[in-house]
Amino acid sequence: MRPDGDDCDLLIEGAHILTADAARREIPHGRIGTTGNRIAFIEAADARTAPMAGTVIDAAGCIVVPGFINTHTHAVLSLMRGVAEDMGFAPAYTKGVPRAPMITEEEAVALARLGALEALKFGSTAICDTYVHPLNTMPAMGALGLRIFGCNLLHDVDFAGMPEGRWDYDEAIGEARLAEVFALHENCHGGENGRLQVIMAPHAPDTCSTAFLKKVAEANERLGLRTAIHLAQSDIEVQRIAARDRRTPVELIDQVGLLNDRLLAAHCIKLTETDIKRAGDARIHVAHVPKGNAGGGMIAPTDRLRAAGANLTLSTDNLLADMTEGMRWALSIARLQTETVNSDWQPEHVFEMATINGARALGMTDEIGSLEPGNMADIVIVNADTPHLTPRLDALGALVHCGQGSNVRDVIVDGEVVVRDGQAARADETAIMAEAQAAAEALWARARAG
Ligand SMILES: [Zn+2]
Repeated sequence: MRPDGDDCDLLIEGAHILTADAARREIPHGRIGTTGNRIAFIEAADARTAPMAGTVIDAAGCIVVPGFINTHTHAVLSLMRGVAEDMGFAPAYTKGVPRAPMITEEEAVALARLGALEALKFGSTAICDTYVHPLNTMPAMGALGLRIFGCNLLHDVDFAGMPEGRWDYDEAIGEARLAEVFALHENCHGGENGRLQVIMAPHAPDTCSTAFLKKVAEANERLGLRTAIHLAQSDIEVQRIAARDRRTPVELIDQVGLLNDRLLAAHCIKLTETDIKRAGDARIHVAHVPKGNAGGGMIAPTDRLRAAGANLTLSTDNLLADMTEGMRWALSIARLQTETVNSDWQPEHVFEMATINGARALGMTDEIGSLEPGNMADIVIVNADTPHLTPRLDALGALVHCGQGSNVRDVIVDGEVVVRDGQAARADETAIMAEAQAAAEALWARARAG
């Protein structure tokens, strides 16, 4: 509670606030004040006379939530939008489809800026984004105001052989990728007032040799970063690791020392019962991709992973970064899997996945993921004054079941309004879209030409 007479920089007035704090507090008619990049107070709007503020945002008719934390994205891969969804697993391993090594720095930046713009406008204030040219893309995305946990993809497989079914490992490739992440750590880590953070991202068990995975684990012991990986994503990966290591992917990751509570593992679909127990016991964080994986005809056993002790987070991967829609998919799919509607899977659970659980995966529960005094001011204001969110009898239920990412009106990151009335404050949206369109067209033309 603020002391009387305490002024603030930014005041959000009259909103229905969903805090996602430990008590899951909900304030039906509330106000939030921020000072610098922190939340100064949250209170009922009728608690006292409103304090003075440099900027006042009238949020009557709005639902205010913590900024969403999208724990697994590849912003550059929006270049596959509307095409790759219908191609089956890993279109990037297919001939005629743009592959990572083809993408120039300029093209990566153009597409990454599009991804950052999309993420922000859908209410994500933090994303874990891994792909190519992060030395260029992380600052470019950060410049739009987003919080980025990024890395280049670490692997030592030669991707060029994969369309022909060859998984050739090359030590020199691995060394080059590791050198990239060291340079990234040196140049980007802590940049943009701490909004740029580096994570270690070994691509996947089958695209990294066992020796290389051990090297990544050793390097990360020195740097003390979080680790992100694609894990148990496909039958191909499971079969490759069974043939190569006589283990499951989860067993392999455990063996090399990466299966722990600093691991953020995306997908986690092809798991044995023993894998689920092992992952839960290790308290790993799962980046669940409900819409993307369901579209590919498969899905993670979220209910059993959570029961085993894993922390479930929400992510959109590439293609569509709407976290509100993601919550709805996660909830509906969990009910399909458990064949019931009960207290185990309610809107609050997927809302936690999209907010505080994401913060937990990043080791930042004291900073982001919930609206609490002292936390960073990462705040999203959703316009609920629309027919599809009326009547609002239960704000969270309405948001999860009926909300759209495009209902996001204002986005505040680190105390700064970076989306105002649906428009990015720091960037020319038309230019970003035109540059991304040109980059995608050029990449597809080169890929098709072979
Ligand atoms: Zn991915």
